[in-house]
Amino acid sequence: MLSTTAAHHAMPNAIDHLAALTGYRDRDLLDVTLAHALMDLLRPRQVVVYKLVGEGDDQRWLLRARLTAGQTTAVSDPPWVAFEALAPKASVRERCECVESESVVASNTPEGEAVTWFPLLTDAEALGVIEVRTARPMPGATRRMVGSILRIYRNFHGLLDYSERDTLTGLLNRKTFDEAFLKTAHAAPGPAGPAAQEDRRQEPAAQRHWLGVVDIDHFKSVNDRFGHLIGDEVLLLVARILRSTFRFQDRLYRFGGEEFVVLLRCGSEDDAAQAFERLRHNVERYAFPQVGRVTASIGFTEVKPGDTPTAAFERADRAVYVAKQRGRNQVCSHAELVRQGVLQEAAKVGDIELF
Ligand code: GH3
Ligand code: MG
Ligand code: MG
Repeated sequence: MLSTTAAHHAMPNAIDHLAALTGYRDRDLLDVTLAHALMDLLRPRQVVVYKLVGEGDDQRWLLRARLTAGQTTAVSDPPWVAFEALAPKASVRERCECVESESVVASNTPEGEAVTWFPLLTDAEALGVIEVRTARPMPGATRRMVGSILRIYRNFHGLLDYSERDTLTGLLNRKTFDEAFLKTAHAAPGPAGPAAQEDRRQEPAAQRHWLGVVDIDHFKSVNDRFGHLIGDEVLLLVARILRSTFRFQDRLYRFGGEEFVVLLRCGSEDDAAQAFERLRHNVERYAFPQVGRVTASIGFTEVKPGDTPTAAFERADRAVYVAKQRGRNQVCSHAELVRQGVLQEAAKVGDIELF
C-alpha cells in the first residue's frame, strides 16, 4: 500500500522535475537539477554527478553535483579546480567500469550501503556517471526509472550541443560567446559584492581572464592547393590541438571560417602570453596530413570588468592584424602593442557614463 502511494505521488513530481531539467540551457544548472530530481524521486542517502574532463588518455573525474539527504544545496568542485587535483579516470574502478561498459554497476559498501552507478551518455561518448547511495539495493523498476530520466537528460544534452556547438569541430559556436563573455567580464577582478569576495577567498591568487583570437595563416592557399575537404580536416585538427593545449575550463570557440576564439583564465599577461605561445608552437610543429606545416597568428587581450564582447574581440583582432603584418606565425599582446605605441587603447564608446 505504502509503495503504491509513493509511486502515485512520484508521478507528477517526476514530471515537474523533467520540466525543470529541460528548462535550463546552462549545463551547470542542468547537472544540479538532475541531482535534485533524483534525490526527490528516489530519496537515497546521496546522489553524485561526476563528469569526465580532459583529453585522450588523461581523463579525470570532476565533481559536478553532490547532494546528501537532509541538505538543500549541492556541493561541486570549484570552477577553477586544478586538473591535476582530480582523480584519474582509472583510479575509481566502479565509475570507470560503468562508463567503459556503458551500463549500470552496483556494489555494497563494507557498511552495508548499496551504491549504484549509472552511465551518463551523449550520442557521441560517455560523459560521466551518476552515483546513488541507498540503504538497500536499488530495485529493477527504480533502476529503469533512473534510466529513463537519464535518456531525457541525454536527448536534451544532444539538443544543446546541436544548437551551441560547431558541427565540424565540436567547439562552441559564436552564438554562446556573448553570454559566456559577459559572465566572465562580470567575474573579472574589480569592484564586487560581498558574495563574490567571499567566493574569491578560496581561489588561487589573482585570477584574470583573457580573450585570444587565433587565425590560421594563408588558409586560403591550403584550400586552393589541396581542396576544401583537406582544408576542413586542417580545421578539425587545429580544434584538437586547441583542446589539448588549454585547460578543460577554458572556453574554445570556432567563429566560423578559420578563426578560433579562446576565453582563458590565468593570473598574468605573461602567463596568458605563454599559453598562446604554446598553442602557436603546437600548431607549427604538427605534421598535417598532406598539407604539412600550418601556422597561426594570435592576438590576445585582457577581459576587463564591464568589457563588451565586441570591444574585447576588436582589441584581440587588431593584435592579430599586427601579428600578420609582422610576418605571421606569432603571438601579439594588445596591451604590449599599446605600450609600444603601435596600437591605441580602444576608443571609449562615445564616453558615455552609464552609472
Ligand atoms: P591570412 O594569413 O591573412 O589569414 O590569410 P588567409 O588566406 O588565411 O586569410 P583569408 O581570411 O583571406 O582567407 C580565409 C579562407 O578560409 C577563405 C576560405 O577559403 C577559407 N574558409 C573559410 N571557412 C572555411 C571552411 O569552413 N572550410 C574550409 N575548408 N575553408 C574555409
Ligand atoms: Mg581570417
Ligand atoms: Mg587566415
